[in-house]
Amino acid sequence: MSNTRQEQGELIAKATGAIKRINEITYSVISQSGSGNYEVHSTQLGWVCSCPDHKFRGVQCKHIHAVIVSFALRKEVEIRRIEPILNIQNCIYCKSIKIVKDGLRYNKRGDIQKFNCKDCSKYFTINIGFEKMKHNPQGITTAMQLYFSGESLRNTARSLKLIGMDITHQTVYNWIDKYTGLMNKCF
Ligand SMILES: [Zn+2]
Ligand SMILES: [Zn+2]
Repeated sequence: MSNTRQEQGELIAKATGAIKRINEITYSVISQSGSGNYEVHSTQLGWVCSCPDHKFRGVQCKHIHAVIVSFALRKEVEIRRIEPILNIQNCIYCKSIKIVKDGLRYNKRGDIQKFNCKDCSKYFTINIGFEKMKHNPQGITTAMQLYFSGESLRNTARSLKLIGMDITHQTVYNWIDKYTGLMNKCF
């Protein structure tokens, strides 16, 4: 494989269910060969992995890289509480900040804020007032928190269904993808 360990680690970190958080300092990472898991945990001397690559070569293996990436992502989520989506400041299509409010609609599904982007001239709406909405900011935040605390996409979607959000694991995946894309620019 020509990818570096770091690149492989990033791929693992983004793969569905590849990393399970056991606790604050211990993670279980699925073996890429498909046979079991390796345990990565934090020590005073840094991250340690149970795989042969780390054990015998003493290198930062792809599992450690994967945990570091996933750890950083989760910290970001904890710190920023998904503010880029909550306090909408960018066009959802072109990310331009030149957006203006374009009226508020009230209907039985809640208050819908309409926005117009001055750069790409597209319109988009954000629901700001009904908890059982499909794509409301609180729901997205909840999804992120569940996912980055180690839940699988399917479990995350299932939990959200329990609080009244009828979404699929594919939707959760799209949010994660979008949000990690936003965050990667900040690294
Ligand atoms: Zn390893
Ligand atoms: Zn735009």
